[in-house]
This record gives sequence, C-alpha cells and structure tokens, in this order.
Amino acid sequence: MKTLLAIFAHPDDESFGIGGTLAKYAHEGVAVYYLCGTRGESGTVDPAFLRGYADVGALRSAELECASRELGLAGVRYLGFRDSGMPGAPDNRHPNSLFCASVDAVAERIIAHITDVQPDVVITHDKFGGYGHPDHIKLYHATLRAYEKLYGLSLGDDHTAFSPTTSDSINDHPSPALHRSSHQSSTDDARVERVPRLYVTAFPKGMLKVAVRLLPLLGQNPRQFGRNKDIDLVTMSTWVVPVTTRIPVRAYIGHKERASACHLSQQPVTRQGNLIVRLLFRRANTWEAFSRLYPPVKAGEPIETDLFGV
Ligand SMILES: [Zn+2]
Repeated sequence: MKTLLAIFAHPDDESFGIGGTLAKYAHEGVAVYYLCGTRGESGTVDPAFLRGYADVGALRSAELECASRELGLAGVRYLGFRDSGMPGAPDNRHPNSLFCASVDAVAERIIAHITDVQPDVVITHDKFGGYGHPDHIKLYHATLRAYEKLYGLSLGDDHTAFSPTTSDSINDHPSPALHRSSHQSSTDDARVERVPRLYVTAFPKGMLKVAVRLLPLLGQNPRQFGRNKDIDLVTMSTWVVPVTTRIPVRAYIGHKERASACHLSQQPVTRQGNLIVRLLFRRANTWEAFSRLYPPVKAGEPIETDLFGV
C-alpha cells in the first residue's frame, strides 16, 4: 500500500490549498496521513463558534477531524507545537510556539513520524510559507533538516532560483541543489533508494497578479488581505516556486469543498472576500500545483501529473 504524509502547520492547511490532491489519493487507496504542526491556537474565532469547546485549539482540532473524514484521510497526527500567529503577534513568544522551536527540535519530531509512517511521498510548505506564515516557513526548513538527518541528503533551498515554467516542460535550468553530505558513501545507496519523494506546494501566481490589480477597484487593499488583514498579496505575487507537478483534481472538488467547509471558524468574513478567494482558487478546481525537491528535477523534464512518479 502506498503512503503519503502531508506536513503542514495548521488545521485548514490540508483542505484550502491541496485538499483535492489529498482526497484524490485517499480515494485511490493511498494511506494519506496529515501531520499537523499545531492546533491553530492563535487563529481568531468568532466567540459563537467556541460554544462547547474548551478553547480555540480544541475547536480547530474538531474542525480538522471533520475535514479528515471528508478527505478520506487515514489519520491526523500532531507535532505538538503551538500556533505562532503571524509575524509580530504576541503568540510568537509563547515557549511552545513553532516560532520559538529550533529547526532541529522540530526536525526530530518530524523524523519520529516519518519513521513510523514510512511514507512514499512527503508534502510540505514552500520556502516562502505560502503567504509568509512563520509556522509554514519553519516546517519547510524542519522537513528539509529531517531529510538531511534521516537520509544524509542536503536539499538546497535555492530551488526557487528556477524560472517559473510557462510551457509544459520544465525550463533548462540546473536541477534543485542536491548534494549528498560528505559522509555519504556508496554503501548508503540502498538507503537513499527508499527516500520518500519530497514536494512543496506551488501556488500559481498568475491569478494572484490579476487579483492584486483587481482588489483596489473593489475598495480592498491587496497589501492587507484576509480575515485578519495580515496577508500582503503584492509581495506574495513576486514569490516564485517553480511548478514541476500538476495533479488533476476536478473529480475531487466536492470533497475539497466539504472539507474546507468543516473549517467554519476560518472562513472569509465577507461575501466579497469569498468571491475573491473563489476567483483565486478557481484554477485549483482543475489541478493543484507542486514543486518537487526530491528526486531532483532534470533539465527538460516534462511536468509530471502524479506525486508517486508513475
Ligand atoms: Zn497554516
């Protein structure tokens, strides 16, 4: 049985961005696990949602369980850190926050789960953390560190030096920096063969650039977007993560939408916001995009349409 491990920071990261992909593989018989870094403790929540729950973390964990059932996941696991909130938030300084945790400490916990689950494929956040959330960025670095410690592979984070792909083949650029550590020997080859394929999410920026121009016309500031006005879409639109992989998800949009609806406390507050979000994610109704970090991408390699390399 094939196994996929998705490593993201918060309850909702599994549904909003890549829920179609997780649902697709789960329904194709892959054991899909979600390793969630935190319980989303610092998300702002309307008090009405909190009725019957001890705190925000308990509410958001329950929402995640709901989403997990809709996506058909094999299980939800927690890394046990606390949501840091956006940069500068007081929750950054909580002693158990992901923000305060060292990359090594987070990597050690990730390693325990990888060792237990034995995934064929691992997915995590990109180096920019999607929209810049410090918890997303921390998990990106910690997952790469886990690969270094487990497999002796040093996956450079300069893969974003690629040009964005505009055609159906990956541009003739050198493959993402992949160096075996100096202590790696040929006797380790067997071990390296078992290295899970590693992907980061790659949010296509085309529609985002359109939205950045459109939002001011609707009276919204693209530099202060989202429920908490803390997302800078203008900066985000300049962050390039090369798309190496497109997963067709049209048949699983219903699952993704129902899973996203489970995260009721995190829905956009206004109808207008909803409209923009729908516009932004419209292309994701057809496919969801990823960037492969391992095995390294070869120059001229066509865009792949499967995470398992088939
Ligand atoms: Zn998140």
